[in-house]
Amino acid sequence: MRKLWINAEFVDGGRDPGRAINPATEETIGEYARGGLVQTDQAIRAAKDAFPSWRRVPAGERAALLHEVARRLRESQEQLAMELSLETGRSIHKNRGYVEWSAECFDYYAELARHYRGRVIPSPEASQLSLVLKVPLGVVGAIIPWNYPLLLLVWKLAPALAAGNTVVVKPATYTTWVSLGYHRLFEHFPPGVVNFISGSGGEVGEYLVKHPDVRMIAFTGSTEVGQHIMRLAADDMKHIHLELGGKDPLIVCADCDLEGAVGAAVWAGFLNAGQVCTSVERVYVDREVYDPFLDGVVALTNKLVVGPGTDPESEVTPMIRPNEREKVAQQVQEAQSKGALIHTGGRIPVDKTKGFYYEPTVLSQVTEEMLVMQEETFGPVLPVVPVMDFEEALLRSNHSQYGLGATLFTSDPKKVKRYMEEIEAGNVWVNDPLVDNLAGPFGGMKRSGIGRELGQEGFEEFFETKHVHWEINGGMKPWWFPWDK
Ligand code: NAD
Repeated sequence: MRKLWINAEFVDGGRDPGRAINPATEETIGEYARGGLVQTDQAIRAAKDAFPSWRRVPAGERAALLHEVARRLRESQEQLAMELSLETGRSIHKNRGYVEWSAECFDYYAELARHYRGRVIPSPEASQLSLVLKVPLGVVGAIIPWNYPLLLLVWKLAPALAAGNTVVVKPATYTTWVSLGYHRLFEHFPPGVVNFISGSGGEVGEYLVKHPDVRMIAFTGSTEVGQHIMRLAADDMKHIHLELGGKDPLIVCADCDLEGAVGAAVWAGFLNAGQVCTSVERVYVDREVYDPFLDGVVALTNKLVVGPGTDPESEVTPMIRPNEREKVAQQVQEAQSKGALIHTGGRIPVDKTKGFYYEPTVLSQVTEEMLVMQEETFGPVLPVVPVMDFEEALLRSNHSQYGLGATLFTSDPKKVKRYMEEIEAGNVWVNDPLVDNLAGPFGGMKRSGIGRELGQEGFEEFFETKHVHWEINGGMKPWWFPWDK
């Protein structure tokens, strides 16, 4: 059984163990300790005690420790990728890439930490020095969703540690087993700098958010829980960083490479069975190319290989749990009952008697008020909508409570310029969706979140900023008391 890891020691959960389920086979793959508030307290105390010495570790030494995490990730790439496929159902092929990308993220922040620490700014007088100082915050609570248990952990841990913070990690319930194995990556760190806890439901996460010794919450998950965290964090004025849900639009212009647009829509709609925060969930297509686009999407979708993530041939893998699949099925049924047309999919595959599969689904004749066009669809569903022109597509794209990612397919630079400035999304892709960049800030607008991960912006989140004014000569100033009238 995998245990909690607190102050560099294994700790029992104190409750009945949790069972890790393979979503492709419904089999149990392992057990994990389920912790509670006692263990969470222990972890926060360990992180708090470790902070004073960790913040003083020189940047070069800290960088070496982070590079060692990258080395360990690469060394166990195959095992880590396979464990991810077993517990998330995701493609082994993609997971190998995510392990390597996680290693690169540690290398990136190790070097950024070496080169970055505030700046000197002009002083009012020659005898003075003014500095913008960046100092770590203290204990960071990292709350992770189940869809990318490694990558989204790394996007928080690497910059948080590089900045000199200590961290308590709370994984999602569905992916606790794989996450509790990640302590191996940090065994060379001083005790208490990184701690892994667990729990079920929101109890442990909420306790972490409310704890006065936690100075920051870095959260990725649903908008609903993110809003709740924001309210809870207000009491202590904690720093919060929220990466939340999305309803990403894709615009297909008549002047684009249509084959590319078809391929991109299918890829970005159905990767990880649509359980990606930046999945394409609405497609607005110029009427001129609507018919060939829709035909192309349906034809390509019908060729996709549906199967377990452990098989490198599988392109559409299972969903995480039957209840998540049910939410998606209900959205599709609601759309159908209001007149939407299902071109392919819209059901559980008949040949899959085990596993939480849902067929990749293409819809047309959808209207904006349908749930499938309004709410996040965390599953493989692609609604396709004809529009008059780019103007209408842009307007409809922005007509959403979310603002995470957005993609435009066009060959017209004038449209690109307009789009990049006016689309309400934090991640903007042109002719190539879902591409993230370690140096490029990732995050959302509107109900998709606050703050950015990755890049220098993602590093800044983990510091407190101070302004230091230093009079080097000392002595009385003419503007002090008594006033010189
Ligand atoms: P979720 O909000 O249900 O859970 C996320 C984490 O929060 C889990 O660890 C969960 O245990 C914890 N949690 C639940 N209730 C809590 C509470 N009251 N207080 C504190 N913590 C609590 O999300 P999920 O189902 O794990 O993940 C899917 C969601 O995450 C989708 O909405 C998806 O769009 C979003 N997501 C966003 C991004 C992004 O970068 N914007 C990336 C991946 C996933």
